[in-house]
Amino acid sequence: MSNNKKLNKIKKLPEQTLAEFDTAARLKRLKSISVADYRIERGEEVAALLEKCCGADNEVVIGYAERLRACAARSNYYLGEDFVDKEGNKFSGFGTLFGCGLKLCPNCMARAGARNRAITRRVVDEKNTKLERREHYCYITGGYIVEQERYRFVTLTMPQIFASFKKTMKIQKRAWDLFRKLKIVKNYFAAMIKAVEFTVRENGTYHDHIHLLAISFFLPDKLLKQAWTDCVRTAFEEFGIEFVAEQANVNYKLVRNPADMVKEVCKYITKTTTWEKIPADQLIEIAEIERWDRMFELSGRFRETIQRLKAEDAAAADSSSSANKETTLTDGVAHELNYFNTDGITDGELLDSQASGVQYYAEEQLPAKRADENLEARRREGWRDVIRREGLKAYRKKFNHQLEYARKIRKLRLMNKYPEAKFTNLDGTPWGCIVVDIPKWKGSSARLDK
Ligand SMILES: [Zn+2]
Repeated sequence: MSNNKKLNKIKKLPEQTLAEFDTAARLKRLKSISVADYRIERGEEVAALLEKCCGADNEVVIGYAERLRACAARSNYYLGEDFVDKEGNKFSGFGTLFGCGLKLCPNCMARAGARNRAITRRVVDEKNTKLERREHYCYITGGYIVEQERYRFVTLTMPQIFASFKKTMKIQKRAWDLFRKLKIVKNYFAAMIKAVEFTVRENGTYHDHIHLLAISFFLPDKLLKQAWTDCVRTAFEEFGIEFVAEQANVNYKLVRNPADMVKEVCKYITKTTTWEKIPADQLIEIAEIERWDRMFELSGRFRETIQRLKAEDAAAADSSSSANKETTLTDGVAHELNYFNTDGITDGELLDSQASGVQYYAEEQLPAKRADENLEARRREGWRDVIRREGLKAYRKKFNHQLEYARKIRKLRLMNKYPEAKFTNLDGTPWGCIVVDIPKWKGSSARLDK
C-alpha cells in the first residue's frame, strides 16, 4: 500500500532531514515566498505605470517595462533549499533566473542592495582594511591636534530644490565631484564608501543625500560643512539655481564598530514604493536614463582592499579543486540568493549580477565565454540600441527567445554549481528536465557549462 510505503519512508529519514520539516524551516520558506510576492507585485505595478504613461511610440520605455515585467514574473523566481553556509548550516532562499538590472526594478535593486552590503561588510572587516597607526596633524580652531584614523559616518544633504528627479541627481553628482576632489577631503579621508539615497517629500521635491562610511581623521564640523556647502553652491550656480539656504547640511559622527553601520550606509537607493509616488513624466525620464552615475562606490584604501580581495577570489577560483570547491560554492550561493546570507563573495558593478541574466547579443555575436568579453559585448550593443535600430516588434521576438534560453542556462548553471540543492518554482513544483535548444547564432556551438 502506498500509504504504508510513505510511512516507512518517513521513519527511515535521518533526524537531520526531519528537522527540515520543523516550523522554522517552513516559516523561512513562507517568508521567502512572501518577499518574492511583494517584489512581483511592486515590479508589476511600476511596469504598468510606465506603460500607462508613455506614448505608444515610445518603444524604448515600452521595452523597459517589458524587461522589468519579465524580471518580476512569477515564473522568473525560484526557491532553493539545502544550501550550506560556511558554518555548515543549511539555509534556503530564493532568486530570479533573469535579472533585468534596471533601476526601477524592486528585485534587481534589492539584489544590488544586498551586494553592496556584502561588499561593505567585507571591506570594513579589520582583517581586510586596517586602521593605520600614523599621526596626523588635524586643524582645530586656533591650532592643531595629533589624531589617528577612525571610522566615521557622514551624511551630506542639499537644500531643497524644485527640480525633477534627474536634475536633482545631476546637481548632487556635480557637488559630489567637486567635493571629492578637494584637498581637505583627500587629506582627511583615507577611505570612503559612498552610497546615494533619496526620498520624495510631500511637496514632490527630492531629498537626495549621500552617505559615507569613511576612515578619516578628526575634522571640525564647521570646516567640513563649509567645504560641502561651497561645492553645493557651485553646483547650484552651474545649473542656474539660486542657492538660498545658508548651508547644505553635513552630519558627521564617530563610529565605534563599522559593521554596525552597514545597513545605514547601504539601504536601497530608495524604498520600493517611492517610484509610485513620482509623477509619470519623471518616471519616464528615469526609465530613459541610459547611463547612471554610480550610486555606490568605494574609494581610497577601500578600493585597494576590494581590488585585492577580488584578485584573491579569482586566484582561489582558478585553483579551485574538489578540496576547496565547497567554500567557493557556498560563497557563490550566498551571492546568488540575496537572502539570509549575504556574506558571500562579491564583485564590482551590477553588471556582474546581470551577467547571470539575459545578455543581448547581436546576431553575429556568440555568447562570450569570459565575463570581460561579455562586458565588451554589452558595451557595444544595448537592448535600447536594438529597439532603435530594428523596432520594438523585431526586438521583442529576440528578447523573448533569449529570455527563455537564458533562464534555462541559468537553471543549468545553478544545478551544476550547487548539486546538493533542491530547486523548485515559487509554487513548489520541482524543476523538471531542462532542454536547451542551441540558439541560431551563426556558427554557434554554445557550451552550456562555463
Ligand atoms: Zn530586475
